[in-house]
Amino acid sequence: MQKLNPYEFALASFDKVAATLDMDPGILKKIRVVNRELVVNFPVFMDDGAIEMFTGFRVQHDISRGPAKGGIRYHPTVDLDTIRALAMFMTWKTALVQIPFGGAKGGVQCNPKQMSLGEIERLTRRFISEISFIIGPESDIPAPDVYTNAQVMAWIMDTYSMMKGYSVPGVVTGKPISIGGTLGRQEATGNGCFYCTAFAADRLGMDLSRATVAIQGFGNVGSVSAMRLSEVGAKIIAASDSQGGLVNLNGLDVEALIKHKEKTGTVVGFPDGDPVGSVDVLTVPCDVLIPAAMENVITMDNVDRISTKIIIEGANGPTIPDADEALYQRDVLVVPDILANAGGVVVSYFEWVQNIQKLTWRENEINDRMKEIIYTAFASVFDLHRLKKVSLRDAALTLAIGRVAQATADRGIYP
Ligand code: GLU
Repeated sequence: MQKLNPYEFALASFDKVAATLDMDPGILKKIRVVNRELVVNFPVFMDDGAIEMFTGFRVQHDISRGPAKGGIRYHPTVDLDTIRALAMFMTWKTALVQIPFGGAKGGVQCNPKQMSLGEIERLTRRFISEISFIIGPESDIPAPDVYTNAQVMAWIMDTYSMMKGYSVPGVVTGKPISIGGTLGRQEATGNGCFYCTAFAADRLGMDLSRATVAIQGFGNVGSVSAMRLSEVGAKIIAASDSQGGLVNLNGLDVEALIKHKEKTGTVVGFPDGDPVGSVDVLTVPCDVLIPAAMENVITMDNVDRISTKIIIEGANGPTIPDADEALYQRDVLVVPDILANAGGVVVSYFEWVQNIQKLTWRENEINDRMKEIIYTAFASVFDLHRLKKVSLRDAALTLAIGRVAQATADRGIYP
């Protein structure tokens, strides 16, 4: 087994692309490292009255193009290097889709699946008060990520607002509609994945209505992608979550599977499919593979067994660099995370704009604008990939890093 450090991988991807850019090495040196990182250890009262200590992080990688932006995740694997890597991906993601934000990420090392709602609320409120002095609608705007949702965002908004003494909806995105959340945010990341799949299939001349799809991670991103793909006739032949997976070569009934997961909390036990392990879904032969769970799942240990034409990275960092290179050599088209899952942060941007302008947009306006932004980014990445004969990831990073470097150079170095 290789040792998998997401931050080392993020830096390796940066170095590979930075070496090809005609930019001042000093500027590249500046944007290679994270700007700010805050580590907090804080107490939470558990339901049994005991005090438990938790460690949380908020990392701002770069703010040259606008306020820092990025999700907060609650997961046992959260550590500083993972959050650094994810913050860096956010900088490239917002630059790639040309929205005026920098990149950040936060997280708390915890297992929310073993915590009550009350414990998660107290953890959220204390964590936000600990990091409150570096977040804000003009400085750093959190959002949902792995195992956080609209309810957690509502507690973030409320805690920050209570500390200020007035409501500050623009401090966080992915909120419930009732307090300034936007239409379309919940489905945005999955919708963006669907659009990227459609654009990629189109470029390869693949008929999506006859395509087979495997989805690893049947959460918010994976299930919405599955639904949209099945609506256009694609067959979802495999799906998994952290507890296990299913294969049905005739195609899973996605609507029924979503209902089953809502009821039981997992895809496991769904009657209409053969049970397999969680990661086995990655190696089911298919036309489109969507890793939509966690980082580092496509590695040198399984890449040779992956049999697909297109990979849509719904998750952040699912493919390690060596495996990415192996897939490129095999002509598998990998639509990288910073493009494939950017629909989420694009609609977060729309939510923030509506909050600070005190306006509301119609849902079709939101979806159409998001689709257009994703298409523009996809087309420019695809053109560069063809022109320079590089992977879509390297093309996307070339555009994104170039833009952040340009912004940094234009602003100059203070003082
Ligand atoms: N956590 C999501 C991501 O990785 C969304 C971030 C946001 O909306 O700020 O892109």
